Amino acid sequence: MAERTKIEWCDDTRNAVNGCSVLSPGCTNCYAMRLAGTRLRNHPSRAGLTRDSKAGPVWTGEVRLNARELLAPLRQKRGRRIFWNAHGDLFHEAVPDEWIDRLFAVCALTPQHTHMILTKRSARMREYFNRPAVAVRVGLEACVMATEAMQRNPRSTIGLGIKVELSDVKPGRLLNWPLPNVWLGVSVEDQARADERIPDLLATPAAVRFISAEPLLGPVDLRNWLRSSPSSAYLSGKVTADMPAWTRIGSTALDWVIVGGESGPGARPMQNEWAQSLVDQCKAAGVAAFVKQLSNGTRALHDIDQFPEGLRVRAFPGRVDAGEGV
Ligand code: SF4
Repeated sequence: MAERTKIEWCDDTRNAVNGCSVLSPGCTNCYAMRLAGTRLRNHPSRAGLTRDSKAGPVWTGEVRLNARELLAPLRQKRGRRIFWNAHGDLFHEAVPDEWIDRLFAVCALTPQHTHMILTKRSARMREYFNRPAVAVRVGLEACVMATEAMQRNPRSTIGLGIKVELSDVKPGRLLNWPLPNVWLGVSVEDQARADERIPDLLATPAAVRFISAEPLLGPVDLRNWLRSSPSSAYLSGKVTADMPAWTRIGSTALDWVIVGGESGPGARPMQNEWAQSLVDQCKAAGVAAFVKQLSNGTRALHDIDQFPEGLRVRAFPGRVDAGEGV
């Protein structure tokens, strides 16, 4: 599918996994579900992933891998900010571990990109990343991919940038882990989802952890999770505050908060005060905030110049690779 995106906080979207099922209030007007059941209903990547209902197309729960999309970043030399799977959920219960391994192998093989993965299935993401062998699994998959690329093209440079120590296969040793170019996030549409998903996210090793409060359906208090407090890793002396961001395994703070109102048919209004409160909470804690769009339910506003002054905020977290920070 097309890689161009209107999403203001990324350069490309890549839909390697399509298909899903409705999980929480944020899913009610799922754009991907509507698209899969209408305009793309006969496209091979979406056919059969929805069924018709009186309320419109509904996901069947089937998921499908799009291998072409999965591997596309390997061919892109220029670094991109890639948002994965806007039309599905990588940690959906029907997605096999092997697909997840392959996606993170692509991330490992493309240090020129920043990979952003957002989920509503935070518990599975936490469980996946906390398995002792996960770095080895992903590292071996990366080796297979790099080998296949070299078989196709002996001059391929895919994989030359990663550190592989096959003689020392221990968790966390096969790759630079957690991958420094992978940002993990959870969707947070209301306080209940914040309380449920953010603790899972903060228990997941990641270079950068973010939330997407879109569609924001009510006021959310994030203050418990915006300031880092000493984690067990710090207390054990295994990491120190002057180490790079991606070593902060167990850190208890979010790095980035995206805020947005709902758009499209049936959109539910977002009060600007809810967005302003999140921006203010981030500002007080020194955390990057990004206001994507405002919406009163009938009209969505994307042009930042038309936002109220206090909401003209589009910051990125302190980058572990390159670029702008707060
Ligand atoms: S998790 Fe995302 S893709 Fe899945 S139904 Fe909800 S909004 Fe749609």
